[in-house]
Amino acid sequence: MNTEKEHDIEVAIIGGGVAGCIAAIALAESHSVVLIDKLNEPVERIGECLAPAARRILKRLNLLQDFEKTVPADQLSLHQKNMGMRSYWGSEQVHVVDPLRNPDGSGWHVDRKAFEVYLREAAEQRGVQCYWPVQLYNAKYENSRWCITAISADKVSNNTVYNFKAKFVIDASGRQSHFARKLGVERQHFDKLVAYWATLPNYETNKMSTISASELGWWYSAPLPNNKRVLALQTDSDLVDRRIKSCEQFIELAQANREMAGILDRNEGEIKFQKTVAANSTRLEQVTGQQWAALGDAATSFDPLSSQGMFNAMASALQLTDLILESGFVKDLSMVKMQHFQATYTHQIDQIWAHYLKHKRIYYGQERRWEDAEFWKRRH
Ligand SMILES: Cc1cc2nc3c(=O)[nH]c(=O)nc-3n(C[C@H](O)[C@H](O)[C@H](O)COP(=O)(O)OP(=O)(O)OC[C@H]3O[C@@H](n4cnc5c(N)ncnc54)[C@H](O)[C@@H]3O)c2cc1C
Repeated sequence: MNTEKEHDIEVAIIGGGVAGCIAAIALAESHSVVLIDKLNEPVERIGECLAPAARRILKRLNLLQDFEKTVPADQLSLHQKNMGMRSYWGSEQVHVVDPLRNPDGSGWHVDRKAFEVYLREAAEQRGVQCYWPVQLYNAKYENSRWCITAISADKVSNNTVYNFKAKFVIDASGRQSHFARKLGVERQHFDKLVAYWATLPNYETNKMSTISASELGWWYSAPLPNNKRVLALQTDSDLVDRRIKSCEQFIELAQANREMAGILDRNEGEIKFQKTVAANSTRLEQVTGQQWAALGDAATSFDPLSSQGMFNAMASALQLTDLILESGFVKDLSMVKMQHFQATYTHQIDQIWAHYLKHKRIYYGQERRWEDAEFWKRRH
């Protein structure tokens, strides 16, 4: 086991997903920042819909121009324009939700892996010290600093140990909230929603996504860049766990939904059943404390019905870093400023959470076709 020399830094960020990268980029000019992620590179994952308002954030951080660059025909695209959604929710009648009246214009369907690679590269170019695959191992508070021990998860590098002394830690490690959990902060779980998802080739010229409620939960499908498509079932883990074990069982359930059956028929080809992921609403009981704060999914994770997870991660990264920049407390570690930061950040996250819960209730309340079905009873 090799041990690297100790790094003295101002901000350590645990997790190089969307939240961690945006926070790192926003702080890079004014603070020494270390960003670690346990994955050597981002992996293919579900969650492709990037809200139109993300344009403002990308622009502010000088990321928009490169993000929107058109790629030559022989290269893979990072994103495609989101043309809106066909919604079968509350009745069999289709409702079309389009971006025409949105002042920010259209959003995007991103290639999620490529988007995260793009953000990681931008962070590196802006001077953030990036370490991957490096995983948080331990955190100890000593002499006004967080002593972070992290271990290389790369077998080749013979488990190098990294020690960082940081004035402030941002937990951007996603739903696992690894740093906060190490401090003993509890996570509240509000439901049991999971997503079963698959990818398939896309042959349709119509670039809209589709959402369709069913007795068991709800389905959605969206075209992805590079002629791919995602198809997913959202339901509660205890309602189906024993029923979906294979791609065949997943397809069988999808065929029972009229809109998904149509999509499968029109896009015949190899379906790759990916896996099951947690999609429930959760939040940390405490989102900030002594020289630390949780961000993105680590602080609050949303039901994918909202399609707002990435945008929330980006927007709250800017709220958090703006508070750090405005007060300057990471530089001087003033207790008064820090207390003000904690109160303001907690209030901001509480407001976002209250707004989210209100909208979630309204959306689920609009679907009344299966009043006796367990999935819907739990949400009404
Ligand atoms: C089914 C489903 C569909 C979704 N669809 C959408 C959508 O269409 N649009 C949308 O905006 N959002 C969507 N989301 C939500 C979105 O994916 C998340 O909100 C978003 O990924 C949050 O970003 P994050 O950076 O906070 O966390 P994450 O993306 O989870 O990133 C956390 C990072 O931390 C790293 N990490 C974890 N533990 C450690 C550790 N111990 N040490 C070092 N690194 C660590 C991980 O490797 C990862 O890179 C969806 C979610 C689900 C479940």
